[in-house]
Amino acid sequence: MKKIAILGSTGSIGTQALEVIKQHQDKFEATVLTAQNSSELLIKQSIEFKPNTVVIGNDDKYQEVFDALDPLGIKVFAGKNALNHVVQYDEIDVVLTALVGYSGLKPTITAIEAGKNIALANKETLVVAGGLITELAQQKGVNIYPVDSEHSAIFQCLVGEFHNKIEKIILTASGGPFRGKDRDFLSRVSKQDALKHPNWDMGAKITIDSASMMNKGLEVIEAKWLFGLKSDQIEVVVHPQSIVHSMVQFEDASIKAQLGLPDMRIPIQFALSYPDRIKSDFPRFNFADYPSLTFEKPDLETFRNLQLAYDAMEKGGNHPCILNAANEIAVQEFLKEKIGFLEISEVVEKCLDKLPFISEPALEDFVDTDKETRIKALEIIN
Ligand code: MG
Repeated sequence: MKKIAILGSTGSIGTQALEVIKQHQDKFEATVLTAQNSSELLIKQSIEFKPNTVVIGNDDKYQEVFDALDPLGIKVFAGKNALNHVVQYDEIDVVLTALVGYSGLKPTITAIEAGKNIALANKETLVVAGGLITELAQQKGVNIYPVDSEHSAIFQCLVGEFHNKIEKIILTASGGPFRGKDRDFLSRVSKQDALKHPNWDMGAKITIDSASMMNKGLEVIEAKWLFGLKSDQIEVVVHPQSIVHSMVQFEDASIKAQLGLPDMRIPIQFALSYPDRIKSDFPRFNFADYPSLTFEKPDLETFRNLQLAYDAMEKGGNHPCILNAANEIAVQEFLKEKIGFLEISEVVEKCLDKLPFISEPALEDFVDTDKETRIKALEIIN
């Protein structure tokens, strides 16, 4: 029985992880569930899955959650520091990090320090501090299993190949709802337009990131750290059908790909069941339903974010951290309809220009950079 802590159990990845656990109750147990605000869903999940402990991030909701779950013998904690406490529990085997954005960084570090394997859905953690995290994981003998569908695809292609050199990887991108559009069109799109993803049903932050191609930019940086690659070994190709989830090219010119319907439960389950594959009842892909799978070059001039992410990755230091924090604020303000869609990359670019560069940041430098970037991004917007 694998005992799992799900950080962010009420979000899109968290709820799908619980579907996986429900299908395999003989193999997995949800030992810790956490949510930031969604107390009602957290209570409902806890009644069904009977975790040992829950954490509600928002202190104002503690009493409500406590009153509902304490009578069931479930421990209830509130506040940010509680996450750092529960990921260290002796009985936890895997911590699934499904928090949104930078908030995942500290609990992930604490979990790795406590020797817990990580199922990583929170890509921002690796974007911000990939060098630090991967080094720490190596020191502690901790495995990081990717949950992101593209990185899971690459990981699946690498099973049995870990001793073989990767020539390059090819990350697929759906292109999002604005694929093929020009900047004039993008200057007029609304929040509702950006929230309509053609293939994947995901949380708001990642859906906007997909529309702006920042998601692919973050994934490029995530891949660098997960698979130890240089930037010229990471290629992006737009594949609107989202069936080929990514590819690895080896030194003999052979390419391996992983395919399937766009269903996040597949990579979530693999991250939890690795090295085994376990039977699922998820819908199967049928080649006859997709007579044409197409591939095209990404448009880096219209979708500036992808280029900015490549540049930040090459520059290194705290630049990916600035990129991420500026983007989090820009997306937040776009969702509040304070800025237009194209301004997202403008804010990111201005922050990268204006904040001081640190070539070899320590954890405190990342914390400071994140904080200062958020302030600067809001200044630029207001
Ligand atoms: Mg992805």
